[in-house]
Amino acid sequence: MPYTPGEQPKEQQYIKLNTNENAYAPPAGAARYLQSALEHAQLYPDPECTVLRRKMAALTGLHEDEIIFTNGSDEILNFAFMAFCDADTGAAFPDITYGFYPVFAALNGVPYAEIPLREDFTVAVEDYCRIGKTIFLANPNAPTGLSLSKADIERILTANPDNVVVIDEAYADFGTWSAVELVDKYENLLVTGTFSKSRSGAGLRLGYGFASAALIKDLNTIRFATNPYNINALSMAAGLAVLEEEAATRAACEAIKKTRRQAIEAFRALGFDCTDSQANFIFVKHPHIGGERLYRLLKERGILVRHFSPERIKDYNRITIGTEAQMQVLLNTVKDILDDENCTSKTNNE
Ligand code: PMP
Repeated sequence: MPYTPGEQPKEQQYIKLNTNENAYAPPAGAARYLQSALEHAQLYPDPECTVLRRKMAALTGLHEDEIIFTNGSDEILNFAFMAFCDADTGAAFPDITYGFYPVFAALNGVPYAEIPLREDFTVAVEDYCRIGKTIFLANPNAPTGLSLSKADIERILTANPDNVVVIDEAYADFGTWSAVELVDKYENLLVTGTFSKSRSGAGLRLGYGFASAALIKDLNTIRFATNPYNINALSMAAGLAVLEEEAATRAACEAIKKTRRQAIEAFRALGFDCTDSQANFIFVKHPHIGGERLYRLLKERGILVRHFSPERIKDYNRITIGTEAQMQVLLNTVKDILDDENCTSKTNNE
């Protein structure tokens, strides 16, 4: 079964809080190198992504050969399934996590174990120790927003010295500590990241990986066997400019974190269960209205959120943190829906 992306509506203007894009546009300076890239667009782009890797090395303190760029982080995740899993070395990831992991596993003929999260959606770290599989963990996880500590991740890395552990940090800039500092300590660690969330660049399709030079070499073997020109010249140019705007990126992340704190407080005040999300989305469920019903009623009123049908999470919705104005409209709409559905009086009488 292919991955089902979140809806990208064309027919109607929605408040779009369903695919965890950044609430803010990229910094104005992001256009800085585009003109020059266009003027050289008759040439293939640099397959080594030299300038981007150099800039990222300077930002992270890693060596350039510990860095790879890919077409979104979906591509590096697929590469990791291709490079580090096979029929004998299967994959392991939580039962509730990013929906592309099982799709990539199936596509590549990799057997996989979906390890149940605990009742409270936390990862049972002991379940990932000495399991002889390539491990994929999103940190923070999606759609729960919950994160693992450095101690937990080091325990998993240490307990699986002969297997690669992939830490998917798509949302790490919104509050979680980053495992990038462990790359020089653990040969078996691959950290993946993306410009799609904290760097306001979902449309650029830029992802990356940090790992030991040996693992990056393996990933490059796959990349050169599929598409060495996976990063087009315009994305490369815009990506470089975005990396030169770290202060703007941090400011947008701080604004989103502030809006997230306010949203969690407001949803809890309305009677919702709300996880302690460390990402740019919240994960919420109300005791008196089903997840799918709330999703539909919000859509009818012009607001798109993401509902997932698996039994364990069918009562939840994942809602991207938008601008403060968008979140205000969302909250007012949710209040109206709860009133219409008589949920407010039920909650007050409890
Ligand atoms: N990992 C996780 C956990 C995600 O939610 C997403 C976004 N859907 C991705 C990776 C991939 O994002 P992109 O390909 O845009 O980098």
